[in-house]
Amino acid sequence: MIRTTRVRLVLVAVTTLLATLTGCGKEGSPPTKGPAAEKLPTYEVAKGFRLPDSPTWQRAWKRGHLNVGVKEDQPYLGERDPATGGYAGFDIEIARMTAASLGFDPKTVNFRTVASANRETALQNGQIDYYVGTYTINDLRKKLVGFAGPYYLAGQSLLVRKDEDDIRGPQDLAGKRVCSAAGSTPYQRIRTDYPKATLVAYDTYSVCVDNLLTYQVDAVTTDDAILIGYAAKAPDELKVVGRPFSKEPYGIGVPRGDNALRYALDDALEAREKNGDWKRAYEATLGLSGVPAPAPPAIDRYRAS
Ligand code: GLU
Repeated sequence: MIRTTRVRLVLVAVTTLLATLTGCGKEGSPPTKGPAAEKLPTYEVAKGFRLPDSPTWQRAWKRGHLNVGVKEDQPYLGERDPATGGYAGFDIEIARMTAASLGFDPKTVNFRTVASANRETALQNGQIDYYVGTYTINDLRKKLVGFAGPYYLAGQSLLVRKDEDDIRGPQDLAGKRVCSAAGSTPYQRIRTDYPKATLVAYDTYSVCVDNLLTYQVDAVTTDDAILIGYAAKAPDELKVVGRPFSKEPYGIGVPRGDNALRYALDDALEAREKNGDWKRAYEATLGLSGVPAPAPPAIDRYRAS
């Protein structure tokens, strides 16, 4: 019984992968390739925009395009189509709309995949100009990078197999194998608040999900926004359980000290929320997972200490 289930799950994993590659989903299931291009908003590019006080903006302007760090395996948020190399999702739209506000044609943005554990280094060594990828703003990280935003509020949650009855919340994780991404806040929270869980870390959440489908781990933990996407892609095999047990305000990571860039991105987010671009982008991406657009959180123009 267990053996057949396993074989079936591996088959499902393979079929899901094939569906992703070929872009054909089951009828009535969420689109496996992510948002339809024609539904995505287009963003007006600010003309004559200049940001002389931002060394990051100046360098990008001379280069002729922005380098933006993102995720590539998070459905509805940041997903790379292996066939075309194109990126899609809510975070990608946030990157595009803010690029347009900074005077760059969104079509020219050079997206670079950067894993959770490498974000601070990528910003510090100039590999990327800014980062948009489910990046929680917190005081520890503010010592290393700057944050514009927040532009979305997520919360930590749990993803389990559909046939799992024992795990309903973080209190049930004692003795269970729980997978998360190295360098992430959900990983850290399990370590400090639920030390009886056996933590397993990988670079990315998609590897955790593969391990869940093949019974190597019992749960995957990270933000609800991310987990809902995986569950929506394999609704017969996976489910999100319990209530979110943290607050994860998503910010745009910028090099620390480049306050001109940070405040310009705050302005950009505020303007895009006001003119409806934020909501249109949400509805064409994250909204596809079934959750209606929330009100965006208030922008926090904090003073760096
Ligand atoms: N928002 C959490 C974090 O920034 C989890 C998602 C992620 O790893 O990107 O650590």
